[in-house]
Amino acid sequence: MKRWLGVALDSLLPPRCYACGTLVDRQGALCGPCWSGLHFITAPSCMRCGYPFEIGLDGHHMCGACLAHPPAYDRGISALVYDDASRALILGFKRADRLELAKPLAGLMAQTGRDLLAQTDLIVPVPLHRTRLLSRRFNQSAVLARALAQISGTSWTPFLLERTRRTPSQGGLSRAERARNVRGAFRVQPKAQAAHALKDKHVLLVDDVLTTGATVTACTGVLRKAGASSISVLTLARVVTPGQGPI
Ligand SMILES: [Zn+2]
Ligand SMILES: [Zn+2]
Repeated sequence: MKRWLGVALDSLLPPRCYACGTLVDRQGALCGPCWSGLHFITAPSCMRCGYPFEIGLDGHHMCGACLAHPPAYDRGISALVYDDASRALILGFKRADRLELAKPLAGLMAQTGRDLLAQTDLIVPVPLHRTRLLSRRFNQSAVLARALAQISGTSWTPFLLERTRRTPSQGGLSRAERARNVRGAFRVQPKAQAAHALKDKHVLLVDDVLTTGATVTACTGVLRKAGASSISVLTLARVVTPGQGPI
């Protein structure tokens, strides 16, 4: 009934841009200015971590950071550069409980990660610690993962990974501090592992923002130990530090 009501209301209300509220021509769309204000990450980008390159390149290239220290995960892709425009959208989704943004935002991720999704057996969100889940009320990564699973028709599981200790926020920490902060903070939930045997599976880890990659690196470690054959990472946005160009 509730769902039917939602559909009925959607068809009655004029569609609005999900970022600024301006009238648009269809539900779940962005208006022109909001669309062009977002920085989408397109090719060419680092074949390992998805870092966008400013210069046109053909073939496969890795960024300097990946050449020096290849990431633990096999491949990383993000839809957007994390900047003022995408931050406003993500904070609205996360802090203002705008759950209706999950589908359009996951739609952006599905577009960017189309190739990765085609090879994915299981989508797994980065978990929150249960006490943080209670205060935040929902895990934004799990909500994005669910929408992504629905859009792409891929399996997903929300409780496979577990955060075993509550880690302080990563905000304001250096790269090394971030890595230390989340080390040993995750495990594969034993019961969930039995239900979704990870052996030889291609797993896609989903998070909202990739900063230094410390969190997804820690998650990758436990998934690999549990037998996953590949672990890729798809995030809605990523921090782009200048000077990490191709080599
Ligand atoms: Zn707009
Ligand atoms: Zn890279």
